[in-house]
Amino acid sequence: MRNGKFSLQKYNTFGIDACADTFFSYNNIDDLILFLQNDFDKEKPFFILGGGSNVLFTSDYQGTIIHPETKGITITQEDDNDVFVAVAAGEIWDDFVQWAVDNNLHGVENLSYIPGCIGASPVQNIGAYGSEAKDAIHEVHCISIADQTRKIFSKEDCKFGYRDSIFKHECANKYIVETVVFKLQKNAPFNLSYGSLNTLLDEKTATLQTVRNTIIQIRKEKLPDPKEIGSAGSFFKNPIIPENQANTLRNKFPKIVTYPAPNGNIKVAAGWLIDSLGLKGFCMGGAKVHEKQALVLTNAGNATGNDVVALSHHIQDKVKETYGIQIEPEVIFL
Ligand SMILES: Cc1cc2nc3c(=O)[nH]c(=O)nc-3n(C[C@H](O)[C@H](O)[C@H](O)COP(=O)(O)OP(=O)(O)OC[C@H]3O[C@@H](n4cnc5c(N)ncnc54)[C@H](O)[C@@H]3O)c2cc1C
Repeated sequence: MRNGKFSLQKYNTFGIDACADTFFSYNNIDDLILFLQNDFDKEKPFFILGGGSNVLFTSDYQGTIIHPETKGITITQEDDNDVFVAVAAGEIWDDFVQWAVDNNLHGVENLSYIPGCIGASPVQNIGAYGSEAKDAIHEVHCISIADQTRKIFSKEDCKFGYRDSIFKHECANKYIVETVVFKLQKNAPFNLSYGSLNTLLDEKTATLQTVRNTIIQIRKEKLPDPKEIGSAGSFFKNPIIPENQANTLRNKFPKIVTYPAPNGNIKVAAGWLIDSLGLKGFCMGGAKVHEKQALVLTNAGNATGNDVVALSHHIQDKVKETYGIQIEPEVIFL
């Protein structure tokens, strides 16, 4: 445990130089339990920080950062086609995807190259290329922060939604994910329906590794690599609006990009809204709208959290002014 100003710059992909009052990392669960029983200050705020790839530190964190570093990928059960794999929360998500591909197991290949740790994958229900973590998650094993008991959440218990789960609502700040159990398949059809995947790959000749390589290549072309340019990926959620509002907007802005959403609503591509306002490359302080992808805000050099907040407010105001839509951040402000 570190007390005093502990720099979080290496622990968030935006690369914001904020400090935490207390930083506790652990590589075995017994240490976590002892910490929660003896040293944890329940009166102060706390935050469970995985890879820090979906957070924005707007100032120093006046509380405790709990950072899992537990490792382990274990096959717990298998039958003719299904293989159950327990993965520790501190494993890097993409290392697990590579492990699954190396072991010829289907189910997470479309989620290649998403930054972050295993522990966040059920919290966020990460998704990409027509696939979501929930499609492969079987159970989530957690530790209760209040009394350190273990609780197993079935897939149904997790109440997964679009980038959403029970861990963001009634179970927020109550549990620490210890292990995620995935159900992978020895054989399964590839999902190449999304974007350019079906033009780049042929279902008959595709392999897990070629699907993974293709997705990595597309992602590298579109998104900044956090090791080179700080960001938290897509900064805003795609807003969902009623169909009549979408029709009015389509009449006025025929090029607007929309997709069907549940309950007859319409999802609008937030990246298109921002791009259409000419904001690619726009800077405020050290924060910048990415040149290639308007949905991504970056740390163009020594940005403070407040530079990014100011830029995000500017974008929200401009989008509201032109399109009457309030876009909301996907990133967690701390
Ligand atoms: C370049 C880039 C591209 C991205 N692309 C995608 C994408 O395609 N799809 C997508 O869905 N996301 C994407 N993201 C966002 C991000 O990678 C995911 O949200 C990821 O799951 C965050 O993981 P993390 O470990 O960094 O979590 P953090 O950012 O550290 O935390 C995220 C949330 O999970 C909670 N959490 C973390 N670990 C635990 C734990 N062990 N127990 C309980 N709660 C925990 C935190 O408290 C917080 O609420 C991208 C980000 C970047 C930087």
